[in-house]
Amino acid sequence: MPKARKKSIVPVPIRLKKNDLVEVRSGREKGKTGKILKVIRDKNQVLVEKVNMIKRHTRPSPTTGQGGILEKEAPLHVSKVMLICPKCATAGRFRMTVTAEGKKSRVCRKCKELIDG
Ligand SMILES: [Zn+2]
Repeated sequence: MPKARKKSIVPVPIRLKKNDLVEVRSGREKGKTGKILKVIRDKNQVLVEKVNMIKRHTRPSPTTGQGGILEKEAPLHVSKVMLICPKCATAGRFRMTVTAEGKKSRVCRKCKELIDG
């Protein structure tokens, strides 16, 4: 029996979440910024709006409509993106804190602003 080749993906703690603004730090999309559309935790990937666009050729079908070439975002590895502080517009450098309500939250190291509402 052939051994099942299972790609083991070790989940890394992802501090990013949907609607976060991030900057791409490496790869061909370097320097681009966008909003996170989706966090794929079991693959350590994120989908970022208008970043890493791929063209998909689709056939007309009742669900996709008329078909043709569809552009959509391809997931990026989380290590390639960095969170941008909405207050000071700087990417990176955050630490975790616990708010008075006992909620975990991210704090910008530069302007000390809480990122999560
Ligand atoms: Zn900041």
